[in-house]
Amino acid sequence: DGTGLKYKRVLLKISGEALMGNREFGLDPEVVGRIADEVKSVMELGCEVCLVIGGGNIFRGVSGAAKGMERTTADYMGMLATIMNALAMQSALEAKGVPTRVQSAIPMATVCEPYIRRRATRHMEKGRIVIFAAGTGNPFFTTDTAAALRASEMDCDAMLKATKVDGVYTADPMKDPNAKRYDRLSYQQVLTDNLQVMDAAAITLSRDRGIPILVFSLYDPGAFAEVVQGRGKFTIVE
Ligand code: UDP
Repeated sequence: DGTGLKYKRVLLKISGEALMGNREFGLDPEVVGRIADEVKSVMELGCEVCLVIGGGNIFRGVSGAAKGMERTTADYMGMLATIMNALAMQSALEAKGVPTRVQSAIPMATVCEPYIRRRATRHMEKGRIVIFAAGTGNPFFTTDTAAALRASEMDCDAMLKATKVDGVYTADPMKDPNAKRYDRLSYQQVLTDNLQVMDAAAITLSRDRGIPILVFSLYDPGAFAEVVQGRGKFTIVE
Protein backbone atom coordinates (compact mmCIF):
# COMPACT_ATOMS: atom_id res chain seq x y z
CA ASP A 1 0.00 0.00 0.00
CA GLY A 2 3.03 2.26 -0.10
CA THR A 3 3.29 3.01 3.66
CA GLY A 4 6.90 3.56 4.66
CA LEU A 5 8.01 4.42 1.17
CA LYS A 6 10.19 7.48 0.78
CA TYR A 7 9.85 7.29 -3.01
CA LYS A 8 6.50 6.11 -4.35
CA ARG A 9 7.40 6.04 -8.03
CA VAL A 10 10.94 5.28 -9.14
CA LEU A 11 12.88 4.61 -12.28
CA LEU A 12 15.66 2.03 -11.99
CA LYS A 13 18.50 2.27 -14.50
CA ILE A 14 20.33 -1.01 -15.02
CA SER A 15 23.32 -1.11 -17.33
CA GLY A 16 23.60 -3.93 -19.81
CA GLU A 17 26.79 -5.01 -18.10
CA ALA A 18 24.90 -5.62 -14.86
CA LEU A 19 23.08 -8.45 -16.64
CA MET A 20 26.29 -10.21 -17.66
CA GLY A 21 27.32 -11.39 -14.21
CA ASN A 22 30.81 -12.86 -14.61
CA ARG A 23 30.42 -13.51 -18.31
CA GLU A 24 32.29 -11.61 -21.00
CA PHE A 25 29.24 -10.96 -23.11
CA GLY A 26 25.46 -11.33 -23.20
CA LEU A 27 23.13 -12.33 -20.40
CA ASP A 28 23.44 -14.48 -17.31
CA PRO A 29 19.91 -15.82 -16.70
CA GLU A 30 20.64 -16.31 -13.02
CA VAL A 31 21.64 -12.66 -12.59
CA VAL A 32 18.60 -11.49 -14.55
CA GLY A 33 16.44 -13.67 -12.29
CA ARG A 34 17.99 -12.21 -9.14
CA ILE A 35 17.37 -8.66 -10.37
CA ALA A 36 13.77 -9.64 -11.13
CA ASP A 37 13.43 -10.80 -7.49
CA GLU A 38 14.65 -7.42 -6.26
CA VAL A 39 12.22 -5.58 -8.52
CA LYS A 40 9.37 -7.83 -7.40
CA SER A 41 10.07 -7.17 -3.71
CA VAL A 42 9.97 -3.40 -4.31
CA MET A 43 6.74 -3.70 -6.26
CA GLU A 44 5.26 -5.64 -3.35
CA LEU A 45 5.99 -2.69 -1.05
CA GLY A 46 3.53 -0.70 -3.16
CA CYS A 47 6.18 1.21 -5.06
CA GLU A 48 5.58 1.98 -8.73
CA VAL A 49 8.64 0.88 -10.67
CA CYS A 50 9.79 1.45 -14.23
CA LEU A 51 13.08 0.31 -15.70
CA VAL A 52 15.55 1.52 -18.30
CA ILE A 53 18.03 -1.13 -19.37
CA GLY A 54 21.26 -0.50 -21.25
CA GLY A 55 22.74 -2.58 -24.02
CA GLY A 56 26.49 -2.45 -23.38
CA ASN A 57 26.62 -6.23 -22.73
CA ILE A 58 25.70 -6.79 -26.37
CA PHE A 59 26.65 -3.78 -28.45
CA ARG A 60 27.87 -0.22 -28.02
CA GLY A 61 27.67 2.36 -30.77
CA VAL A 62 31.11 3.81 -30.13
CA SER A 63 32.77 0.40 -30.42
CA GLY A 64 31.03 -0.22 -33.74
CA ALA A 65 32.11 3.22 -34.97
CA ALA A 66 35.69 2.51 -33.89
CA LYS A 67 35.64 -0.51 -36.22
CA GLY A 68 34.63 1.64 -39.17
CA MET A 69 30.86 1.42 -39.01
CA GLU A 70 28.83 4.56 -39.45
CA ARG A 71 28.14 5.90 -35.96
CA THR A 72 24.42 6.37 -36.39
CA THR A 73 23.98 2.82 -37.68
CA ALA A 74 26.09 1.48 -34.83
CA ASP A 75 23.95 3.42 -32.35
CA TYR A 76 20.77 1.92 -33.80
CA MET A 77 22.33 -1.50 -33.26
CA GLY A 78 23.04 -0.50 -29.67
CA MET A 79 19.41 0.50 -29.22
CA LEU A 80 18.27 -2.85 -30.64
CA ALA A 81 20.51 -4.54 -28.07
CA THR A 82 18.60 -2.79 -25.26
CA ILE A 83 15.35 -4.28 -26.63
CA MET A 84 16.79 -7.79 -26.29
CA ASN A 85 17.76 -7.06 -22.69
CA ALA A 86 14.31 -5.60 -22.00
CA LEU A 87 12.62 -8.75 -23.33
CA ALA A 88 14.89 -10.94 -21.20
CA MET A 89 13.98 -8.91 -18.12
CA GLN A 90 10.27 -9.01 -18.98
CA SER A 91 10.47 -12.77 -19.32
CA ALA A 92 12.23 -13.11 -15.95
CA LEU A 93 9.69 -10.85 -14.21
CA GLU A 94 6.70 -12.63 -15.71
CA ALA A 95 8.14 -16.00 -14.70
CA LYS A 96 7.83 -14.67 -11.12
CA GLY A 97 4.25 -13.55 -11.69
CA VAL A 98 5.02 -9.84 -12.09
CA PRO A 99 2.93 -8.16 -14.83
CA THR A 100 5.32 -6.31 -17.12
CA ARG A 101 5.11 -4.24 -20.28
CA VAL A 102 7.96 -3.32 -22.60
CA GLN A 103 7.69 -0.02 -24.46
CA SER A 104 10.21 0.76 -27.14
CA ALA A 105 11.33 4.18 -28.32
CA ILE A 106 11.77 2.56 -31.73
CA PRO A 107 8.35 1.15 -32.65
CA MET A 108 8.44 -2.62 -33.08
CA ALA A 109 4.78 -3.48 -32.91
CA THR A 110 5.04 -7.24 -33.21
CA VAL A 111 7.46 -7.46 -30.30
CA CYS A 112 6.39 -4.84 -27.76
CA GLU A 113 4.39 -1.65 -27.32
CA PRO A 114 5.63 1.62 -28.73
CA TYR A 115 6.50 4.26 -26.16
CA ILE A 116 3.32 6.15 -25.24
CA ARG A 117 3.67 8.21 -22.10
CA ARG A 118 0.05 8.18 -20.98
CA ARG A 119 -0.18 4.48 -21.52
CA ALA A 120 3.00 3.88 -19.54
CA THR A 121 1.59 5.95 -16.66
CA ARG A 122 -1.59 3.87 -16.70
CA HIS A 123 0.41 0.61 -16.61
CA MET A 124 2.30 1.85 -13.57
CA GLU A 125 -0.87 2.92 -11.79
CA LYS A 126 -2.18 -0.60 -12.33
CA GLY A 127 0.90 -2.07 -10.69
CA ARG A 128 2.66 -3.22 -13.84
CA ILE A 129 6.38 -2.85 -14.27
CA VAL A 130 7.16 -0.83 -17.39
CA ILE A 131 10.49 -1.45 -19.12
CA PHE A 132 11.55 1.34 -21.44
CA ALA A 133 13.63 -0.04 -24.32
CA ALA A 134 15.64 1.44 -27.20
CA GLY A 135 16.96 4.33 -25.11
CA THR A 136 15.77 7.70 -26.33
CA GLY A 137 15.34 6.35 -29.87
CA ASN A 138 18.07 8.72 -31.07
CA PRO A 139 21.70 8.06 -31.94
CA PHE A 140 24.44 9.93 -30.02
CA PHE A 141 22.54 9.47 -26.75
CA THR A 142 22.90 6.91 -23.99
CA THR A 143 20.54 4.91 -21.87
CA ASP A 144 21.60 7.10 -18.91
CA THR A 145 20.07 10.06 -20.71
CA ALA A 146 17.05 7.93 -21.62
CA ALA A 147 16.65 7.12 -17.92
CA ALA A 148 16.67 10.81 -16.94
CA LEU A 149 14.24 11.58 -19.77
CA ARG A 150 11.76 8.83 -18.87
CA ALA A 151 12.04 9.60 -15.14
CA SER A 152 11.13 13.20 -16.01
CA GLU A 153 8.25 12.23 -18.27
CA MET A 154 6.86 9.70 -15.79
CA ASP A 155 7.18 12.21 -12.96
CA CYS A 156 9.28 9.82 -10.88
CA ASP A 157 10.23 10.78 -7.32
CA ALA A 158 13.73 9.42 -7.79
CA MET A 159 16.02 7.81 -10.31
CA LEU A 160 17.97 4.84 -8.99
CA LYS A 161 21.23 3.92 -10.62
CA ALA A 162 22.25 0.34 -9.97
CA THR A 163 25.99 -0.29 -9.76
CA LYS A 164 28.32 -2.99 -8.47
CA VAL A 165 29.15 -0.97 -5.34
CA ASP A 166 26.98 0.76 -2.75
CA GLY A 167 27.45 4.33 -3.91
CA VAL A 168 29.84 6.86 -5.39
CA TYR A 169 33.41 6.74 -4.12
CA THR A 170 36.40 9.07 -4.30
CA ALA A 171 38.22 6.28 -6.19
CA ASP A 172 37.37 2.77 -7.36
CA PRO A 173 36.78 0.89 -4.06
CA MET A 174 37.60 -2.43 -5.78
CA LYS A 175 41.14 -1.15 -6.43
CA ASP A 176 41.81 1.50 -3.78
CA PRO A 177 41.30 0.48 -0.11
CA ASN A 178 41.36 4.16 0.94
CA ALA A 179 38.45 5.11 -1.32
CA LYS A 180 35.70 6.88 0.61
CA ARG A 181 32.00 6.76 -0.11
CA TYR A 182 30.04 9.96 -0.48
CA ASP A 183 26.70 10.04 1.35
CA ARG A 184 25.54 13.05 -0.58
CA LEU A 185 26.68 14.99 -3.64
CA SER A 186 25.32 17.97 -5.51
CA TYR A 187 24.63 17.72 -9.24
CA GLN A 188 27.21 20.46 -9.73
CA GLN A 189 29.91 18.56 -7.86
CA VAL A 190 29.32 15.49 -10.01
CA LEU A 191 29.71 17.62 -13.13
CA THR A 192 32.69 19.68 -11.95
CA ASP A 193 34.66 16.73 -10.59
CA ASN A 194 33.57 14.54 -13.50
CA LEU A 195 32.45 11.81 -11.10
CA GLN A 196 31.30 8.66 -12.86
CA VAL A 197 27.67 8.63 -11.78
CA MET A 198 25.83 9.08 -15.07
CA ASP A 199 26.71 11.09 -18.15
CA ALA A 200 26.48 14.88 -18.12
CA ALA A 201 23.26 15.06 -20.15
CA ALA A 202 21.53 12.80 -17.62
CA ILE A 203 22.85 14.82 -14.68
CA THR A 204 21.77 18.19 -16.08
CA LEU A 205 18.28 16.97 -16.99
CA SER A 206 17.81 15.47 -13.52
CA ARG A 207 19.04 18.70 -11.96
CA ASP A 208 16.66 20.81 -14.06
CA ARG A 209 13.74 18.55 -13.11
CA GLY A 210 14.82 18.27 -9.47
CA ILE A 211 14.93 14.47 -9.57
CA PRO A 212 17.38 12.98 -7.04
CA ILE A 213 19.72 10.25 -8.28
CA LEU A 214 20.38 7.42 -5.82
CA VAL A 215 23.39 5.23 -6.53
CA PHE A 216 23.33 1.81 -4.83
CA SER A 217 24.35 -1.81 -5.32
CA LEU A 218 21.81 -4.08 -6.96
CA TYR A 219 24.00 -7.04 -5.98
CA ASP A 220 23.22 -6.60 -2.27
CA PRO A 221 20.01 -8.55 -1.70
CA GLY A 222 17.32 -6.27 -0.28
CA ALA A 223 19.23 -3.05 -1.01
CA PHE A 224 16.75 -1.83 -3.63
CA ALA A 225 13.86 -2.24 -1.17
CA GLU A 226 15.78 -0.35 1.52
CA VAL A 227 16.68 2.53 -0.79
CA VAL A 228 13.06 3.21 -1.80
CA GLN A 229 12.33 3.49 1.91
CA GLY A 230 15.18 5.96 2.32
CA ARG A 231 17.28 3.48 4.31
CA GLY A 232 20.40 1.43 3.73
CA LYS A 233 23.53 2.38 1.86
CA PHE A 234 23.53 4.68 -1.12
CA THR A 235 24.87 7.98 -2.39
CA ILE A 236 22.27 10.60 -3.14
CA VAL A 237 22.89 13.24 -5.80
CA GLU A 238 20.47 16.13 -5.25
N1 UDP B 1 22.00 4.21 -27.68
C1 UDP B 1 21.67 5.28 -28.51
N2 UDP B 1 20.73 6.18 -28.09
C2 UDP B 1 20.11 6.09 -26.87
C3 UDP B 1 20.48 5.02 -26.03
C4 UDP B 1 21.44 4.10 -26.45
O1 UDP B 1 22.19 5.40 -29.60
O2 UDP B 1 19.25 6.93 -26.55
C5 UDP B 1 22.95 3.19 -28.17
C6 UDP B 1 24.41 3.58 -28.05
O3 UDP B 1 25.09 3.10 -29.18
C7 UDP B 1 24.86 2.83 -26.81
C8 UDP B 1 24.05 1.56 -26.89
O4 UDP B 1 22.81 1.98 -27.43
O5 UDP B 1 26.24 2.54 -26.84
C9 UDP B 1 23.84 0.85 -25.57
O6 UDP B 1 23.41 1.75 -24.57
P1 UDP B 1 24.36 2.18 -23.33
O7 UDP B 1 25.78 2.27 -23.78
O8 UDP B 1 23.76 3.39 -22.70
O9 UDP B 1 24.17 0.92 -22.39
P2 UDP B 1 24.79 0.62 -20.92
O10 UDP B 1 26.14 1.26 -20.84
O11 UDP B 1 23.85 1.20 -19.92
O12 UDP B 1 24.81 -0.86 -20.87
